[in-house]
Amino acid sequence: MLDTAFFRRWMTATAAAVDREADRLTELDSAIGDADHGSNLRRGFTAVAAVLDKDNPDTPGGVLTLAGRELISTVGGASGPLYGTLLRRTGKALGDAAEVDRAQLAEALGAGVAAVAQLGGAAAGDKTMLDALLPAVDALGESFAAASTAAEAGALATVPLQARKGRASYLGERSIGHQDPGATSSALLIAALVEAAG
Ligand code: ADP
Ligand code: MG
Repeated sequence: MLDTAFFRRWMTATAAAVDREADRLTELDSAIGDADHGSNLRRGFTAVAAVLDKDNPDTPGGVLTLAGRELISTVGGASGPLYGTLLRRTGKALGDAAEVDRAQLAEALGAGVAAVAQLGGAAAGDKTMLDALLPAVDALGESFAAASTAAEAGALATVPLQARKGRASYLGERSIGHQDPGATSSALLIAALVEAAG
């Protein structure tokens, strides 16, 4: 079973991964965006780690809703409201259970990803974070490792795509040939589940 401590580890492992990879995320965003994705997420997840320490939420759902709220209030770019919605909606779907199993997390994350699709109006293949998140949700029933592999593959598969949503879509065909920054950071978020479980 996955308890509150697991969800805190998930968020702190994500914060560490984003911090480690911030320069790469920003580099990807400089090719097809405005070169702020790494700094946006670093600021957001640093704030998430701090607020979790301060407020000490005592349920898995509480951890994720607090983290989502913090991302929305600290990240200005498109990714802040989108990641914030992802975590908030996932947390809401977990309710106030003290522990959840991986199948429940998979279902809740599915609701979170659906909320991201609704908010941003994007679908699979539009070259966004959804291209990592949707395959991850599908594979989560199998294992965390399978979800992480699927997210990584989904992020890599954005390279030949033309962006149809977000800032990168302004580039039209020139967005082809570059990996989507948001799909790349989503793969980090899912990889952090493996770390939290280990
Ligand atoms: P901004 O584009 O405002 O500078 P970021 O650079 O932080 O914000 O985030 C860019 C990422 O956000 C993109 O790489 C993409 O994955 C994601 N994104 C942008 N718009 C959408 C959308 N409508 N739906 C889903 N994801 C999106
Ligand atoms: Mg940007």
